Amino acid sequence: MPKPNPRNPHFPIPAGPELRAKGWRQEGLLRLLENVLSVGEDPDNLVVYAALGKAARNWAAHDAIVRTLKHMDEDQTLVIQSGKPVALLKTHKQAPLVIMANCNIIGQWANAENFYDYQRKGLICWGGLTAGAWQYIGSQGVIQGTYEIFMRIAEKRFGGSLAGRFILTAGLGGMGGAQPLAGRMAGAAILVADIDPERVRKRKEIGFLDEVAASLDEALAIIDQAVADKRAVSVGIVGNAADIYPEIAARGIVPDIVTDQTSAHDLVYGYVPRGLSLEEARSMRESRQAELMAASRASIAIHVQAMLDFQKKGAEVFDNGNLIRTQAFQEGISDAFSIPIFTEAYLRPLFCKAIGPFRWMALSGDEADIARIDDLVMEMFADNAGVTNWIRLARANVPFEGLPARIAWLGHGERTRLAQAVNELVRNGELKGPVAFSRDHLDAGAMAHPNIMTENMKDGSDAIADWPLINAMTLCASMADLVVIHSGGGGYAGYMTSSGVTLVADGTEDADLRLGQAITNDTSLGIIRYADAGYDEAIEAAATHDVGHIAS
Ligand code: NAD
Repeated sequence: MPKPNPRNPHFPIPAGPELRAKGWRQEGLLRLLENVLSVGEDPDNLVVYAALGKAARNWAAHDAIVRTLKHMDEDQTLVIQSGKPVALLKTHKQAPLVIMANCNIIGQWANAENFYDYQRKGLICWGGLTAGAWQYIGSQGVIQGTYEIFMRIAEKRFGGSLAGRFILTAGLGGMGGAQPLAGRMAGAAILVADIDPERVRKRKEIGFLDEVAASLDEALAIIDQAVADKRAVSVGIVGNAADIYPEIAARGIVPDIVTDQTSAHDLVYGYVPRGLSLEEARSMRESRQAELMAASRASIAIHVQAMLDFQKKGAEVFDNGNLIRTQAFQEGISDAFSIPIFTEAYLRPLFCKAIGPFRWMALSGDEADIARIDDLVMEMFADNAGVTNWIRLARANVPFEGLPARIAWLGHGERTRLAQAVNELVRNGELKGPVAFSRDHLDAGAMAHPNIMTENMKDGSDAIADWPLINAMTLCASMADLVVIHSGGGGYAGYMTSSGVTLVADGTEDADLRLGQAITNDTSLGIIRYADAGYDEAIEAAATHDVGHIAS
């Protein structure tokens, strides 16, 4: 029986032992599709997050996917093209059950205008990174990534702690909504602006925001006091970041850390330019697109200029993956790229060892299954303080949304061992049901994005998209359950290529084999991608773990 879902009442959370499909692999993928809608920002329109990141092309396509997952056999493969099922093919039992390609547009045609046009004609949809691949688990996924970034900054700049530090950011949407909780978990005083009062209300309601300030004066007073007391607090404020950032700068205040997670990648359906109300911007989206895009770019230029001013005064400023620098650069802010991208600045050494966001979802819908796996992780990785601290913090602070799930930054070998140990728990009946594992697109060798993941690669291979394509083909050859190639990224077209993967641990011996091969080959390729680019940490990891790297 599905569970009621107060957040999106028409989209219940899948749960229980009853199968609607012919096996748990198919049922598991069906539950993941249902799950991304249950935790989505605008599920009535199939939107999961990031303005237009969709779970399926349209409702007819969605219904056809659901029907097919329910009746397909294990030796068939469902083929999905940009959120629309186009074929059910006879393959074999160890082949992927679902393969997808989302939003791939030929290079010369890949721009936002064409994307909007193809989308209007019903030819394409954007899958974000985890929406189209049915991997999104609510805010938790990004909470850990954001927390990880804040802690890396704490180590780099602030003696390992963010107590008494002020973080300024914006955006409380599907992904950005994680920032206040991640900031508070990292011990900081964090102020987050969003133009949409509804988004602010929602984050307060689920406990991610401690306080909502009625004015900037009030917000800054709360932050000041918390900084003085070295007390963690998260404060939300309704307003346009392109007004608020310059206003804070004009008052001579320099936050310790500044970033932004407004939907700056989307100049029409995402970012709201200063000088326009939310309603005004919405009313222009269909009929006055070019005008709105120009207004968004002009506003982003002011927004980024304020970030640069903070940087010059000593703040740690970074781009958190929303293309805000790219848009500002196109608007004439020539030094926009002096702001570093978070991947290069803080996370690349981890990616070199294939340490990245690995997640698991209890398909039973039972929170006790995640609690049991939390215990297992604490036991298996007792000597890895990063992982055990995170699990402790997540247990205490991160509410479950949709299917109970957990994420942890695990590396090569660790992921495979955990997944196979969990499969054993499923087999022994220690868990109420199977568990799905997925790896984010933004991980190891799975993404080429010259303005996010692969900016300033040591060997200059920033824009080489072969790696994620090789990754997806390897995953198909390695028996993963769902394999997807996404393109688009911020700006929707032409910015990135990535691949994603999901596996269902259903307790069978076949699952042991699939989990072993797919996860090990995935992390091996991650290490190889960075070793090939000349990163010492990766070259060392490749030698230590014997990942099959051919150095030539
Ligand atoms: P979303 O569309 O769900 O939310 C964006 C929020 O920004 C909305 O609440 C909107 O009201 C607000 N906003 C828009 N313009 C504003 C302005 N000028 N001032 C204040 N608020 C404004 O998007 P999301 O899922 O939260 O993603 C946000 C961005 O982060 C996207 O560009 C996405 O591509 C990027 N992203 C980065 C990562 C990463 O790994 N770092 C991961 C996921 C998403």
